[in-house]
This record gives sequence, structure tokens and C-alpha cells, in this order.
Amino acid sequence: MINVRWGRGQCPCVPDVVTAMQMMYDVNRVRKDFPILARQVYGKPLVYLDNGATTQKPRCVVEAMVDEYYNVNANVHRGVHFLSQQATDLHEASRESVRKFINARSVNEIIFTRGTTESINLLAFSFGESMVKEGDEIVVSAMEHHSNIVPWQMMCARKGAVLKVIPMTDDGELQIDEYVKLLNEKTRLVCCTHVSNVLGTVNPVKEVVRIAHEQGVPVLVDGAQSTPHFAVDMQDLDCDFFAFSGHKMYGPTGIGVLYGKEEWLDKLPPYQGGGEMIKNVSFEQTTYNELPYKFEAGTPDYIASHALATAIDYVTALGMDNIFRHEQELTRYAMDCMKEIEGMRIFGPVEGHDAVISFQVGDIHHLDMGTLLDRLGIAVRTGHHCAEPLMRRLGIEGTVRASFGLYNTREEVDVLVEGIKRVAQMF
Ligand code: PMP
Repeated sequence: MINVRWGRGQCPCVPDVVTAMQMMYDVNRVRKDFPILARQVYGKPLVYLDNGATTQKPRCVVEAMVDEYYNVNANVHRGVHFLSQQATDLHEASRESVRKFINARSVNEIIFTRGTTESINLLAFSFGESMVKEGDEIVVSAMEHHSNIVPWQMMCARKGAVLKVIPMTDDGELQIDEYVKLLNEKTRLVCCTHVSNVLGTVNPVKEVVRIAHEQGVPVLVDGAQSTPHFAVDMQDLDCDFFAFSGHKMYGPTGIGVLYGKEEWLDKLPPYQGGGEMIKNVSFEQTTYNELPYKFEAGTPDYIASHALATAIDYVTALGMDNIFRHEQELTRYAMDCMKEIEGMRIFGPVEGHDAVISFQVGDIHHLDMGTLLDRLGIAVRTGHHCAEPLMRRLGIEGTVRASFGLYNTREEVDVLVEGIKRVAQMF
């Protein structure tokens, strides 16, 4: 008998958490699900505040991967044998988990990719090939990650199209009045991040979508930094495309999603050739598979899709609203404490910050601050955060970034604040 220890919705670490959640969000209990949080670095307890780059994994996600490799592993879709069918069932059940998680209408709208970057590259190729011609315009915002700039630049170079930029205020908010003026009959697509990975700005993407749709223009939302922190709803946002990564939301590396409205994905050509994206092949002509397989060439990472669905089960059991409340409370606490530090400059909007705080202290170089915090066991990110145009807009080279996850605590914020003060005293 094949020993698959759990299916969808039966993640082993969930029942304990659910019980705790019914009382309150018990962060210390949640932390026990993440073995890595118990380790030390340089003899100090690890304070992991680099969640914007990647999150740690709960035990159930790692166990789901090990379990599938040990007990189920077989290539999906193509096999008639038992294991292949079981692996296929898990992979396709994972697609349904993702659909439900983002409230898409159909599993045909869920394309598995390697992550946000690949999702955007896929779209830039497919959309560019079929929908963009010379002189057309693609709109991006001033606060995009390189992954939502460079694929569009490459496509513009191929097609002779032009990139336009929605400006932002000094506080890091999109200038919607300027955005409205950018749209015209040449605009083919608007690409905007849901949450800035540097500033923590939560963009009004619903409004961005509504304005674009009034002009008949579709919108891609980069959800890499929103999906880990609050519930997203494709039918409510009404965006045409949405990209996110598994590893930033407690799932494994190497898996992500491109959501696209079915009516759009139906119209777009495939990105890569081979494998499951094919219906029939002859040397004269090839016909392509139906959605979503049309966009999934080669063997998909069916182990990672199952583990991503396990991560979705995990955060769903904790409650996305509970996670949001916990992180918001923590971010507000951190902002209040950090503001009191002499020479502190925090970037981004004063209100409505998501769980990301980018800062500088006096003229201490971000790399010095990051390196010295690391010696205290505090993991933060330093540099331009893959958003060089945004750095240029702010007139800086880089920042230190603390980004919070569902397992971070007030005590960890206190360690960070004390750490920053200690480093500041050294300069
Ligand atoms: N967009 C944003 C807003 C991000 O924060 C990131 C990751 N830092 C990406 C895109 C790229 O994600 P990935 O490396 O997982 O493809």
C-alpha cells in the first residue's frame, strides 16, 4: 500500500495551529513549526528579518516534499501506472488549491512556473509576440522590481515598443493623476506591483485596474510581495494577469504561478515548446494543448507544486487575516520604535506600510549596518533590492531592509532596534 501520509487540507502541522488560532494568534507556537528559527548564528539566536527575499519553511512543507519523493514519485500526466496517476492527482489538486487561494474562476487560469520572474517573462514573450507592435506602449510603475521591468524592456526592444513609467511621490505612493494621463490608444498593457518590496507601499491596484479597463487596457499585477501577507482575490481585483512565487510564502523554491484570465490566455501563444504543451506533433505541423497545459512545457516541478499547496494549507489554517493583523501590529510597533532612533530615515508611506521597512541611519552605509547586524544574529537585506530605478528616484544607492513574516515577534523587533542603536554608536 502506498503511504501518502496526507492529501490536500490534511497538513500534519495544521491541527495544533488551528486549535491555537481559535484562541488567538500564538506566535510562539507557530514558531515551533519552523525548525530553522531555533538555530543560532555567531552564537546568537537567529533573528530572521529577510522574509521579503525568501521565507523559512514549516516542517509540513519540507515533509510533504520528502514524503512525495519517498512514496509517490513518478512523472505526471503521461503514465498509465499507479504512481504516475497518484503524482498527477497531487499535482492537479495543487492547482485547485492555488485557484481557491487566489479565488480564480477556473484551474485553467493557473499556470505553474518557476516563480514571479518566470511568470512575467512568459507573459512578456507571449503577450509581446501576439499583441504588441512598433510604437505601442507598455506602462510600468516607478517602484517595480527588476523582474517587472527588464522582461518588458527586452520585449520593447524586440517589438520596437516604448516603456512608460508611472511616477511616484517622495513618500513612495503612485501618482494616479499622472497614471491616467499616460494611458492612450497606444497603451497595450499596464504592469504594476501590488506591494513594493522596498517601500512596503500597498498600491491601489484595484483602482489601477479599473482605470486601465476604462481604456480597454489589460493589467498585470506583480503579487510577489502581497500573497505572503494578505488574502488576494482575482475576481475582486479584476486584474488580467497576476504573478507570484512559492518561496516567498512559506513554500518551496522553484515554483510560482502566473494567473491569467481564461479569455486572455486562450488568445496568447505558448512560451516554450515541448512536453505537455503539445497535442499533436508532425514535422509539418504541431497543435497545442488546452489551458493550462499550453503554457507548461517539459516536466513540471510536481514535487514543488504539492509542497506549495501544503504551504497554502498551512497559511490558510493560520488564517490570512490573522497573519495580516499580526504582521501589521508588528510593523507598526517596529516603525514606532525605530522612529525614535537618532538619524533614522524610513522610506515609504507613513501609513499603510506592509511588512517591509527600508531605512538608513545617518550616513552609515547600508552594507556596514547589514554586516554588523548580522554579527548580532540579525538577518536583514541591504542594497538596491533589485529596484535600481527606484533607488535613483529616491536619490540613494541602497537601504537596509527589515521584512517581517508570520513567525516574527516583538522581542525580535526589540533585538533589531537595540542592534541598530549599537551599530549607530560605533560610528
Ligand atoms: N517582484 C517583486 C516585487 C519581488 O519582491 C521579487 C523578489 N524579490 C520578484 C518580483 C522576483 O521574484 P522571484 O525571484 O521569486 O522570481
